[in-house]
Amino acid sequence: MTNAEPRAATTIDERWQPYRRPQPAEAHPELVIAAAVPQDERVFVPIEENVWFRPLLLSASSGYWMSVLRVRRAGVLSRHRHPQPVHGYVIKGSWRYLEHDWEAREGGYVYEAPGETHTLVVDPHVEEMITLFQVNGTMIYVDPDGAVTGFDDVFTRIDKCRAHYAACGLGADYVDQFIR
Ligand code: FE
Repeated sequence: MTNAEPRAATTIDERWQPYRRPQPAEAHPELVIAAAVPQDERVFVPIEENVWFRPLLLSASSGYWMSVLRVRRAGVLSRHRHPQPVHGYVIKGSWRYLEHDWEAREGGYVYEAPGETHTLVVDPHVEEMITLFQVNGTMIYVDPDGAVTGFDDVFTRIDKCRAHYAACGLGADYVDQFIR
């Protein structure tokens, strides 16, 4: 090639050209949430005293959920087993598992491996803990010997959201925007 100028101009134009073919018909629409930690307190769904979760993506089609967990109290949250991986990003505060010697702190990332059973605790010096979690499949609640006491999956989470949003005035269908 002797003169790259015209070719370069074309390349730049192409780079700024949006994809012009149709998206797959089966693809779900994207989801964009401006404030993952919401201003409106009603968006937080209470799951027990001083513990809330805020749904971001409730993937009924793939069986996982993205949510922000908020805890405003020291104590034991739950002992549970994960058949599938969990990813966490600590937005505020800190927490740990009784089974491990590390602490998840503000700004940190945590990977929880499939098969793991652990007990989530928030220590007394923590005023507020806020963590983004991707939970895949199921949270199986167990006693210290692993006997099952309950479970959560994306469908129980959807039910809890629907009930709370109906009760708080946002409307039962408020949850629908998070479901894919
Ligand atoms: Fe866990």
